[in-house]
Amino acid sequence: MPLFDETLNQRLAELREQHLFRELRRVDSAQGPRIEIGGQTFLNFSSNDYLGLANHPALKTAAIHAVEKFGAGAGASRLVCGSLASFHELEESLAAFKKAEAALTFSTGYAAALGTITALVGKDDVIILDKLVHASIVDAAKLSGAKLRVFDHNDLNDLEKILKWANEKSRLTPHASRILIVTESIFSMDGDCAPLRKIGALKEKYGAWLMVDEAHATGIIGQNGRGLADELGMSDQIEIQIGTLGKALGASGGYICGSRALIDFLVNRARSFIFSTAPVPAAAAAATAGIKIVQSAEGETRRHHLRQRVTELISNFKFQISNFPGAIVPLIIGDENEALAAAAKLREQNIFVPAIRFPTVARGAARLRITLTASHSANDVAKLCAALPPTPHASRRHEPTRPT
Ligand SMILES: *Cc1c(COP(=O)(O)O)cnc(C)c1O
Repeated sequence: MPLFDETLNQRLAELREQHLFRELRRVDSAQGPRIEIGGQTFLNFSSNDYLGLANHPALKTAAIHAVEKFGAGAGASRLVCGSLASFHELEESLAAFKKAEAALTFSTGYAAALGTITALVGKDDVIILDKLVHASIVDAAKLSGAKLRVFDHNDLNDLEKILKWANEKSRLTPHASRILIVTESIFSMDGDCAPLRKIGALKEKYGAWLMVDEAHATGIIGQNGRGLADELGMSDQIEIQIGTLGKALGASGGYICGSRALIDFLVNRARSFIFSTAPVPAAAAAATAGIKIVQSAEGETRRHHLRQRVTELISNFKFQISNFPGAIVPLIIGDENEALAAAAKLREQNIFVPAIRFPTVARGAARLRITLTASHSANDVAKLCAALPPTPHASRRHEPTRPT
């Protein structure tokens, strides 16, 4: 035991030295524009609850009703003990919302990525990822055993180069070999958008499959908040749409939308779905209520408020930052310690903005990741702007792109 702890403490010391040590901060209130930490109230610019639904009365009521009807726990995996009505209602709502034939929900977005990618590709296949995709996709790709290639962020030339290579390789492989491209629509730590239409054209040209993670776009962009795939009319062209119920939708869980064949296949093959207890029915019911609000007039109003707040924040900057289509506005600082210091300075003024560091982003690309929500007021944003470093280092590694 002492030796075990000693080893770990040594590793922890290394993390501290590199300014990469992380710790949990206990919050004693619900998510919202203000949170309680250590008996103090902080203005909160850290949450992915972009539309302010996590603490919405309609979601809470839906969760309470589900608890009253179905209890607190789900009992077992949905294939083992039967599949609660809450999940079926949620999946029907999701499929309609995303204009897909069918949907399947998982306990988290992470589990959805893990189960789906490992079910779809294996060692004879190639998986091609944008350099900035979420850790869940990277982990899934590694676990799948497929040959993994990474293209520079939003770089279509680099993607095509890899597609050419993969196509050549698959022609030489005796087994049927598949190529899966994975990207996000709005990127989680950079707030920019993928050139999805052009990626769609490339995937058609090379006969690849396309998976798009809409974790930060669902509920936020496109008509009724359906996301970028729908906005571009690409829902039919993208084999696998993935996302989370835990961000703009205000609840918890992950989803896959696509064809009936895809969903039936995942029920049979996605190990994180099969070998895991179903989520609590309250989470599914809350997500269903979230999807309803997102598509309603109230959802539209909330998206409008969010857009206003984002515009106020970016118009405060002297430098020209181009479009941030979602709720995420990163201020790239670079040095890990400087980013920590900037976040600490904001906390002294009771403003909570996370310093995002390696391994969430590349080494030397640390940043303040500001997230705005529909529940913030113009005054909240004005306070943040007044507290931010006078000229935030906004030297972005790349320009955010508009949806194309
Ligand atoms: C948050 C996130 C996930 C994981 O979703 P969870 O439901 O939080 O597990 C997947 N992909 C992206 C891009 C994310 O930002």
